[in-house]
Amino acid sequence: MTVYLVGAGPGDPGLLTRRGARLLARADVVLYDRLVSPALLDLAPAGAQLIDVGKRPDASAGAGAGGQDGLGGRQEEIDRLLVEHGRRAGVVVRLKGGDPFLFGRGGEEVATLVAADIRFEVVPGVTSAFAAPAIAGIPVTQRGLASSVTVVTGRVGASDGGESPGAPDWEALARAGGTLVILMGMSTRAAIAAALISGGRSPDTPAAIIARATTAAQRVARTTLAGLAAVDLDPPAVIVVGAVAALAHASPPGSGGGALSGRTVVVTRSGSRARGLVDALERAGAVTVELPLTRQVDAADGGAALRSVASAAGDYRWIVFTSLNAVDRFVAELRDARAFGSASVAAVGGATADALRAEGIEPDLVPAEHSARGLVEVFPPADAEGPRRVLFPCADIAPDTIDTGLGQLGWDVQRVEAYRTVSAAAPEPELLERVAQADALVLTATSSVRAFVTLRAPDGDAVPAPAPAHVVCIGPTTAEAARAAGLTGVHEAWGASTEGIVAELEHHFGSSEPSAPSAPSEPGAAGAS
Ligand code: SAH
Repeated sequence: MTVYLVGAGPGDPGLLTRRGARLLARADVVLYDRLVSPALLDLAPAGAQLIDVGKRPDASAGAGAGGQDGLGGRQEEIDRLLVEHGRRAGVVVRLKGGDPFLFGRGGEEVATLVAADIRFEVVPGVTSAFAAPAIAGIPVTQRGLASSVTVVTGRVGASDGGESPGAPDWEALARAGGTLVILMGMSTRAAIAAALISGGRSPDTPAAIIARATTAAQRVARTTLAGLAAVDLDPPAVIVVGAVAALAHASPPGSGGGALSGRTVVVTRSGSRARGLVDALERAGAVTVELPLTRQVDAADGGAALRSVASAAGDYRWIVFTSLNAVDRFVAELRDARAFGSASVAAVGGATADALRAEGIEPDLVPAEHSARGLVEVFPPADAEGPRRVLFPCADIAPDTIDTGLGQLGWDVQRVEAYRTVSAAAPEPELLERVAQADALVLTATSSVRAFVTLRAPDGDAVPAPAPAHVVCIGPTTAEAARAAGLTGVHEAWGASTEGIVAELEHHFGSSEPSAPSAPSEPGAAGAS
């Protein structure tokens, strides 16, 4: 029983530490902040309890999203949940934006755990204080320009008198020089700039604002202290003040010059499952938006049926897999690899076949057409005298194409529910907005098609699916389902693989110029002199 305070990093799920990822994979309970990427929650086991303890921006009176002010009873509630679950659950992950100990009340949460005599461990994270400038190409220190960097909260005004440290001494910070990195400073930026100028920093001192750093919605604005108030970007944002703020040693995502440069592609997988596709799209120059639509959870019987057939796998002539989730679940129940005995293995889809290979199982049959129908077409007929049993571990919603098709070939198919597919949590309105503005959407399963067209807003209202104009589907079944669901611009990937998806997109977008600058861009030197 340990509570792990894990730094989630600034936004990009790729910036979580490996230790953080391993702990999430073992979590029984995850208490997460609002700014944490949904893709990280997907790293938790299907049965983990996910608790959103994030405060909405309107709950943090003027302090901006993620502000440490205005939490009120919210922090008490978080402390209460930490103690409650810390006493009960095996692995509790308290997933906090950036680094847990930088302006996140991490220290207070630890004090609560110590007082309650609950074991804890802190797993550091990549803080937005340094990641945001870095991603914008701003080195926070540089020889000849800045020999120190100070990270401060954007509070202004007199200290509130209590034990709270209150506002930084802006005039002293102005005299100290060097680079200033200001968190939670968007709502007070005008007063901050005024205080720094009156403390002696030149109104021409370069300043930069990096909003939603390391996410697809990243925006960077360059200005000066005098122009700071005029920059209008939504929090969360980091403000950098000092000579280094004028530097730009990196190119923003999506400007890399690949065939998909300047295109935004929505990926409906998330977390580790999406990684390969997201990386490949980004290598091709695209900006990606992760929209998790479904989650896989345990079978209705808790996996009992799967467990019992897995130990008797050798009793079957064939075992058929049509998804990598089924492979994962089946292999997890397999206590002894020899249980396969002489059973042959069929796999639909390259990812399914690869998942088997990763377990040391070379599939005997992988149909060229990556669909259940494609498998039925190439499947051998049952031998009149020989064994006829076929095991089909699958999702609760898997269509009966395999059962019926192989049945007609004389096989006796036993379908076993390996997992259930349920809808993911409702996406935030900002995420839906980005989806609507994207250039393309990738759908990899019929369940994703269904989940996409019935997207719901967080308040439970159905939202009209904001579909990008170009839709790429893996396999003919998914493409048919997408067209039947009313989506337009539906195309099939050039193969049931990451490469096949990217190839189709490159072909489609390769010849034309981006229509609108949907990639993160620099709104310009607002208010710059
Ligand atoms: N512990 C966090 C900071 C929590 S305070 C960390 O180490 O990053 C919340 C503030 O962090 C926000 O008001 C904003 O200033 C900053 N912030 C967090 N995520 C950010 C992001 N992706 N882009 C820009 N600023 C971010």
